[in-house]
Order: sequence, then C-alpha cells, then structure tokens
Amino acid sequence: MKQIRNFINGEFVSGSKMFEKRSPLNNAVIAQVCEAGKDEVDFAVRAARAALHGPWGKLVVADRVDLLYGVANEIVRRFDEFLEAECADTGKPMSLARHIDIPRGAANFKIFADVVKNVPTEFFELATPDGRGALNYATRSPIGVVGIVCPWNLPLLLMTWKAGPALACGNTIVVKPSEETPQTAALLGEVMNAVGIPKGVYNVVHGFGPASAGEFLTTHQGVNAITFTGETRTGAAIMKAAADGARPVSLEMGGKNPAIVFADCDFEAAIEGTMRSAFSNCGQVCLGTERVYVERPIFDKFVAALKQGAENLKVGVPGDPATGIGPLISLEHKAKVLSYYRKAKEEGATVVTGGGVPNMSGDLADGAWVQPTIWTGLSDDAAVCREEIFGPCCHISPFDSEDEVIRRANDTTYGLSAAIWTTNLQRGHRVAAKIEAGLVWVNSWFLRDLRTPFGGAKQSGIGREGGVHSLEFYTELKNICVKL
Ligand code: NAD
Repeated sequence: MKQIRNFINGEFVSGSKMFEKRSPLNNAVIAQVCEAGKDEVDFAVRAARAALHGPWGKLVVADRVDLLYGVANEIVRRFDEFLEAECADTGKPMSLARHIDIPRGAANFKIFADVVKNVPTEFFELATPDGRGALNYATRSPIGVVGIVCPWNLPLLLMTWKAGPALACGNTIVVKPSEETPQTAALLGEVMNAVGIPKGVYNVVHGFGPASAGEFLTTHQGVNAITFTGETRTGAAIMKAAADGARPVSLEMGGKNPAIVFADCDFEAAIEGTMRSAFSNCGQVCLGTERVYVERPIFDKFVAALKQGAENLKVGVPGDPATGIGPLISLEHKAKVLSYYRKAKEEGATVVTGGGVPNMSGDLADGAWVQPTIWTGLSDDAAVCREEIFGPCCHISPFDSEDEVIRRANDTTYGLSAAIWTTNLQRGHRVAAKIEAGLVWVNSWFLRDLRTPFGGAKQSGIGREGGVHSLEFYTELKNICVKL
C-alpha cells in the first residue's frame, strides 16, 4: 500500500494520524495518507519562514527563475508519473490530464518565472522647490510565508497556479492539498529536491479542513497571506480565519455559470463548446456550465443535439482512450450530485437524458459514477438552476430577447464565468460587457492566455490572479522617495 507523507523542510515526514485515500473508480483504498496535526503544520510554517530568510531569500531573480524553469522541466521529464498519480486520485480520463492538468502544472512555473523576469519598475524624477529634486520609485518584495489551500478537481493545475507565482515572487509556501488528491503535491516535493530548490521553500501538509491541516494552516499567525480555491462557503470561513492578524486573502470560489446560445450561432461550435463546458472532468470544473439559455428558434434542435452528445460520451476508466467521462471524485460527492438529480425530478424537470447511475460491471459498480444529465422545463428559481452542483449536468431553458437573457444570466449570487455563442460580434461584445462575471467567453470556452486576469465577481471570488495580477497579491509594494 502506497504511503503519502507530508513534505516539510525538504523531507518526507509522517503525521499525527493516518487517513485513507480511496479510488473514485471502485472505492478501494489506494493509499494511506499521513495527516498533519498542529505540530506538523507549525513545523512547516517555521521551515518556510527560515527558508525565506535563508538561501532562497538571497537568490537573485535570474537564479530563482532558472530554478523554476528547472521545476517545470522536471515535471515534464516525470510526466507519466504525474499523469498516473493524478488519474489514480481523481479517476479522470488520461486523455484529459495529458492535455490539460499536467502540461499546465509545468507551464504555471514557466509563465510566472517569465512574468517576474520582465516585471516593469515604477520610477519618477520629482522637481522640488529647492531645485535639488528627488527620486521616487517602487520596489516589490515577497509577502512572506504563503498558505495555499487547494481543491480536488484539477489538483496539480490549480495548486501550481498559486505555487508558481508565489515562488517566482520570492515567497515560501505551505500547501494544503485536498484530502481527496494528495499524490501530485507530494510528487512535486521530490521534484523540488531534484532540481535544488532550497529546503523549506515548498512544504506540503496533508489533511482535511476544520480541526485539521486546513484550519491549522489558515489560523497559524506565521502565515502572512492565504490563497484559496474551493467552495464559496469554505472561502468565507478562511476569510474569517485570515481576519485574525489582518492577513490578505485571494479567493477563487464556486460558480453557477451560464451559457447563452443565440439562434445565429455556429451551431456545431456551440454544441461542441457546451458539451465540453458541461461534461468535461465529469462536470467538476469551476468554469463549467450548469445553466444553458438557448434562443427559442433553435431550442428543440439544440436540446436534441446536446442529448445526442451526452449519450455518445463513453463513461469509463482513465486509461481507456475511448473514455469521455470518468467518475465523480468520491462517493460523498456522488451522493450530493444524486440528491440534485432527485431534486430536479421533484421540482418537475423533464429529464432529457441521464438522471441516474450508469451500469458498471465488476468492482466498478462500487465507484462514484453518475450519468451525464440534461434537464429542461424548470423555472429559474429551481434549486438545480441556482445552486452549484459540480456534476456532469445542466438545465437548458429557452429565451426570447437579449435583455431577458442578460437579466436571467445575472440573476445569481455567483459570477465566475459565462459563455456566449453568436456570430454577431457586435452582440457578443455588447452582451459580454453586461454579464456580471470575472471571465466571459465569446464563441469559446476554457481558452485563455495565462497572463490575463483570472478570478470571480460576486461570491465567486475576491481578487485576481494571472500574469502581473498575481504580483499584486504575492508581493508587497514599497514606495521609496529619495531627496537629492
Ligand atoms: P472545498 O471548499 O470543500 O475544499 C477546498 C479545500 O479547502 C480543501 O483542501 C479542504 O480540505 C479545505 N478546507 C475545507 N474547509 C476548510 C476550513 N474550514 N479551513 C481551511 N481549509 C478548509 O472545495 P472542493 O470540494 O475541494 O472543490 C470544489 C469547489 O471548488 C467548487 O465549489 C468549485 O467551484 C470550486 N473551484 C473554484 C475554482 C475557481 O477558480 N474559482 C477552481 C476550482 C474549483
């Protein structure tokens, strides 16, 4: 049995307790994970603090950047190990992780190394009444020890999305991966040692949220800033923890993202994009679409085509190249998603396809499988149209005018992303400007240059990360004015 340990001060260390990591495919135990208690978290934070003032803090930017390029290259060199580990923890199709999770895990180190290398400086010459003048400039220093709390849906990708910029800016970090996905964060510890990242710069503490590593890390006063991705409710709890010590937070949280499909869209592209946004990663993507609004003239045709697409998706295991959709992350999450499948029926939905559990043979019958599901016929105030489900499902509803669909798309407490499908680009721009979300796609989905800002509006997030925007969170700006 595999044992996953905490990674602290450059070494793998046990914890106070163990917990089991189960496979989403069949619920079998695949690893024993060492849970970090208060002592291990404290050890990790102190190691991070020491490294901040040690060799890491003394590196010039060019050398730090070289080391981070080394991390990216080493992830690529050990690509298959990362791929195996990520798919074992999540059950996601290897085809998906091969093209998205692992390459992005490596790219996140390179992109932020480049950003830091090229960051502009602010420098002004001031005139003063005595004629001698002054030089006024700004410097950026690391914010300190950063606590990073991560979800399970895109484990390596989302963790490195924060670890990359935090390290590039010269900080040291303590990562708390999701209890569901401990493996790739641990593997990254081996990578850090292999490329010569000084000990204590990258630390990993495993465990749960409340009364476990998550709470111990976010309440630890040795942590200078906390960056989090996960559910809105958890983000709010972390914000409260960060208030003690007035520490900054960056929160990337839940969504209930709309897709708006106009009758003049490129129909095939709209179907392909909505298929991906509703069902990729078994619907467990924060940017995914759970509300689809389709202009009435093409409503029936759209519903029929999406139904066909969903029914063509092969539910299967990660290594099968034909697999289009894997299991959910856990039996607990399966129970949550199925409770929404039941609720939709109780609220009077028409189940266009799915709505239950697929027939899986052998021990797979014990796994976290659910059918890709499409509903129609509900009003906008139904629970499945308002609450984030985080499963492979969406509700499709007709609309008659641009104003109507903008109002309905915005009628949510969330504001992470939206997708608009139209060949009328004037309309695309117009609607995009009125959508209350951090990220709006027109005729695409999940397409983004990593230098652009990423984050949610309303209850989907606080702050923006990506490119130079990450520097705003991971550095402390200082204004220095020198009278000459
Ligand atoms: P979650 O909030 O349950 O857990 C996220 C992390 O927080 C885990 O590591 C967990 O152990 C930890 N945690 C839980 N309670 C805590 C507490 N009180 N204190 C400290 N840490 C605590 O989220 P999840 O179920 O892992 O992920 C799914 C959610 O993440 C969805 O809501 C999804 O929309 C969201 N998400 C958002 C983005 C984004 O970029 N906005 C990206 C991916 C996922």
